[in-house]
Amino acid sequence: MQIPERSILHKKQYKGILMLAVLVCMAAFGNYARDMAEESMRTEEAPKRVAITFDDGPNADYTEALLKGLEERGVSATFFLLGKEVEKHPEIVKEIQDGGHLIGTHSYDHVNLSNLSDAAAIEQVDKTNAAIHEITGEYPEYIRPPFGCWKANLDYETSMIEVLWDVDPKDWATSNSAVIAKRVVDKVEENDIILLHDASESSVNAAFTIIDELKAQGYTFVTVDEILFD
Ligand SMILES: [Zn+2]
Repeated sequence: MQIPERSILHKKQYKGILMLAVLVCMAAFGNYARDMAEESMRTEEAPKRVAITFDDGPNADYTEALLKGLEERGVSATFFLLGKEVEKHPEIVKEIQDGGHLIGTHSYDHVNLSNLSDAAAIEQVDKTNAAIHEITGEYPEYIRPPFGCWKANLDYETSMIEVLWDVDPKDWATSNSAVIAKRVVDKVEENDIILLHDASESSVNAAFTIIDELKAQGYTFVTVDEILFD
């Protein structure tokens, strides 16, 4: 059948509109796909954060092995140091600083600060901070009080920021590093602060297992200031 010329023109116009509609749809889908890709990139840009912390050092037997393992893993940690140990092992304190870790205070003699007079508690903090400052040139801003015992008024009297913890595997109570690591890995959540002690081989080995397992789960390790203030 002969198709009239006008009708062919209409058909061509119709085809043109259809093509345009297809192009609009493709562009819209392109935008959607790009938005989705950007969204997933944003998610990838914000990995889950966790902080690993070590109390009671510097320790002549274990801190340096810990520092080496942290460096191999590219992990920054937070160390809450005892003033009396700082004075005994200044070279290890320097190594902690050189490793890019955050240094905080854990009292001078590992005492329950809330059982002391304010003056005695402040002395425990000031003596430790002065010992750390002498080595690092910086005064610590963060304190982990032994046993988590701190009086609120000491926030003002010392201007220290108290740092407690979210996950405590009680690493001092066992020498089984696998048990310590499992207690942490089973419980830890995003933005948690993990409490360990660089005071035994099992704690140091547990720290490495914890780091390796949590990294595999997509965690990134930061110092406590980033958890508290970012
Ligand atoms: Zn302690």
